[in-house]
Amino acid sequence: MDYSWECEVLGMSKIPSAEEQLDFLTKVQRLFNESDFSSTYKYALLISLADLAIELGKDDDSELELTNRQIAERFIELYWQQSSPYKTSKANDSGVLYQNHGTQAAIIKAIQAFRDENSFNSPNAAKHSKEYKKLVTAVASTVAKQPINYLQNVGGGALPFLYERNTSSITLKIGVAYCLRRFQPLVQQLARSRWTDYIKKNAKNMPILGEKDDLSSFLFETSRKTLALVCKELKVLYGCKCFYCNKATTELEVDHFIPFSLYPRDLMHNFVLACPSCNRSKSDSLAAKVHLDKWIELTTKNSDAIVRIGEQVGVSANLETSLAISKWGYGTAIDSEATFWITPLIHKTFV
Ligand SMILES: [Zn+2]
Repeated sequence: MDYSWECEVLGMSKIPSAEEQLDFLTKVQRLFNESDFSSTYKYALLISLADLAIELGKDDDSELELTNRQIAERFIELYWQQSSPYKTSKANDSGVLYQNHGTQAAIIKAIQAFRDENSFNSPNAAKHSKEYKKLVTAVASTVAKQPINYLQNVGGGALPFLYERNTSSITLKIGVAYCLRRFQPLVQQLARSRWTDYIKKNAKNMPILGEKDDLSSFLFETSRKTLALVCKELKVLYGCKCFYCNKATTELEVDHFIPFSLYPRDLMHNFVLACPSCNRSKSDSLAAKVHLDKWIELTTKNSDAIVRIGEQVGVSANLETSLAISKWGYGTAIDSEATFWITPLIHKTFV
C-alpha cells in the first residue's frame, strides 16, 4: 500500500501555528456558549462542516469550498432518523421530536414529506432519484437562509472566523479546514451533547421522551436492528470469522474499524466483524498497520458488494469517503505518536 500520506502529515505544507489553533478553539467555545440556538440547525452545521473537512480537506492551512448542496446532503443524513418517531409507550402525538421552539423545523418536515411519498429506506438508497434531488434543493435553501446565515453571529455581534458566504457555497477560511480536522472529535462531541440537551430541554418533547434513556443513541447512532442486518450480511460476504484474529465463530459482533468515538458517523465500508474478545479489547483504539492493510484490501476488493449491502440495510456507503476518513484518522494518530491495537493485550506504534 502507498503510505505517502504519512509524509504529508509530517511534511512541508504550511499549517496554522499553535497560537492560531488555540484562537480557533477559543472562538468555537464562544460560539457554543454565546450563540442563540433557536433550533438544532447550528449543531448540524458544525457537525457537517467538521465531517466534510475530513473527507474533502487537506492537512495544510488551505481554504476549502463546500457547496450548499453538499452541506444539505449531510443535513438530510443527520436528520433522517430524527424525522421518524421516537418510540415510547406514552407518546400520543406523532412521536417525532421537536428540533426548535416554534412549529416543527422545516428540514424535518421536508424529510418527513419525502419519506411519506417515497419508499426509500435511507438517503443512500434515495440519492439517484429525481425526488431526492428536489429534497436536496429545498434543504440547501433552508440551510443557506438559516444556519449558514446565522452561525457566525455570536453574543450579539459578528464573529466571522469560519467561512465566507458565496451564492451557492461557502469557503472555509485559511486554517479552518485544518483545525476542524485536527479537533473533529471535540467539535463533534460538543455539538452532539448540546444537541441532545436541546431536545431534552424543549418542553414540547417531554411527553414524547417519556422515561426512556436512549435519546443520544436514537439521535446519532445506527439502530440495533440495522446493525443486526449488517452483521448478517457481512457474515455472508466474509464468512463467519473474526476480521482481526481469523477465529471461526458464529458469535460475531459488528466493529467500527475506525472507532465510532473518533469518527461518530456510520458508513458501511467501516464495518467489520469481530469476535467478542477482539471487539472488547480493541474498543476505542485504532488497529495496527497489519489490520489497516487488510481492511483497505478487503473493502476495496469487495466495495461493490458493500455498497449493495448499504443500500439494502439503509447505511451510507462510499469507498473514497471511508478511505479519506481512515487517512485522516491514522494521520492524526501517527502525528500524536499514538499506539495501535494488534491483538488483545498488544499495542504498538504504527510501523
Ligand atoms: Zn478475534
